[in-house]
Amino acid sequence: MVEKVKVDIVVIGAGPAGSTTAEHAAMNGADVLVIERRKVIGVPVRCGEYMPNIEEIERIFPDAHEIGSLLEVPNDLRVLDQDTIRIFSPSMRAWDVPFAGYTTDRDRFDQHLARKAEKAGARIVTGKAFLGIRDGNVIVDGMEIEAKVIVGADGPLSKVGKSAGLKRSTDLCPAVTVQVEGDFEPMCQMFFGSVAPGGYGWIIPKKGSANVGLGVANRFAKMTVGEYFEKFMEMKGLRTEMHPMGKFDPMSGPVKQAVKGNVMLVGDAAGQVMAVNGGGIPIAMLCGRFAGRAAAMHVKNGSPLSDYESMCRKQIYGPLMTAVHTKYLANTCFGSRWRLEWAMRMLGQRRINKLIRCKPVIP
Ligand SMILES: Cc1cc2nc3c(=O)[nH]c(=O)nc-3n(C[C@H](O)[C@H](O)[C@H](O)COP(=O)(O)OP(=O)(O)OC[C@H]3O[C@@H](n4cnc5c(N)ncnc54)[C@H](O)[C@@H]3O)c2cc1C
Repeated sequence: MVEKVKVDIVVIGAGPAGSTTAEHAAMNGADVLVIERRKVIGVPVRCGEYMPNIEEIERIFPDAHEIGSLLEVPNDLRVLDQDTIRIFSPSMRAWDVPFAGYTTDRDRFDQHLARKAEKAGARIVTGKAFLGIRDGNVIVDGMEIEAKVIVGADGPLSKVGKSAGLKRSTDLCPAVTVQVEGDFEPMCQMFFGSVAPGGYGWIIPKKGSANVGLGVANRFAKMTVGEYFEKFMEMKGLRTEMHPMGKFDPMSGPVKQAVKGNVMLVGDAAGQVMAVNGGGIPIAMLCGRFAGRAAAMHVKNGSPLSDYESMCRKQIYGPLMTAVHTKYLANTCFGSRWRLEWAMRMLGQRRINKLIRCKPVIP
């Protein structure tokens, strides 16, 4: 028996992008339904769990408004505060970049955002997957949903985007992560070179444990990401009983078109990630807020959904595109250990500082 449902807005995916979109659409008066494939939101964790502090996001996106109110989280979601990122070159030369952030528990973080969406009035259904769009209606396991707006917040491989004929990121980088128990330096560490060709390995400390992971670019990798990860763990003398969890990180910058007809893409589905480091949680939330508002305004007074893309371009995409250009430059070095070492030394502390904040490294 198929349940037929009619809503203003259906959001596929309850990650940071989907829950934030739903929250802001509901806050602006829309009737919102969120469909999430996982039984428990945020589980399993496939993330480094690192979040920059609000001031850092304000510095990265100087044109974005009201960042503080959006990214503020309860203290118990700040598992470990840090003020430095240590970057290692292939020869293990290290630079300490002052950068304020914290490690979170990503499952609890996503659940917190989902609760906020529910509090605003959105309804969330878990354990049901989006299957496709038929005759304009969204088809989900056991449900057929008629909606004025369909939001694809379903991650880098977005099935919603595919169903609507929207293109996804052209550079999907595989990445894996795992929790490792032990005592770790109280700072985020990033390792570049043959350890993770075209990407980097990371150790991000938590309390009495760390999130250890690694991402690569397929065009430079000679082994699977899992094999690189095993070697990285061995190199660092780390062991865990847990199985590494993997996902793709979209690294080619925002997709050219995130709106088509009544379909909008947001978060990883729209390539809204910092290409220099793969960080996407705060951007998914910033863009999710625009998506939610624009979708609600469209339902209320017929304003165009493309207002969403205009807001993203005005406030967010500048630094994201700078990061994409820096990544293109970096790609010319990733193929050679020697070239990468040389480039990192040429960049030095000051330019690495800029690079990490999505600022141009070449004037
Ligand atoms: C290994 C790894 C480590 C990372 N570490 C960090 C980090 O430390 N800090 C950071 O800022 N960013 C990090 N990122 C990037 C970050 O995880 C993403 O940018 C962020 O999760 C984007 O949020 P989202 O809501 O767009 O997508 P997601 O978080 O992927 O959420 C998509 C949701 O849609 C659901 N879904 C998918 N398909 C369907 C379907 N057919 N039907 C219903 N639901 C569906 C999924 O179950 C999921 O809940 C990392 C990425 C990877 C791969």
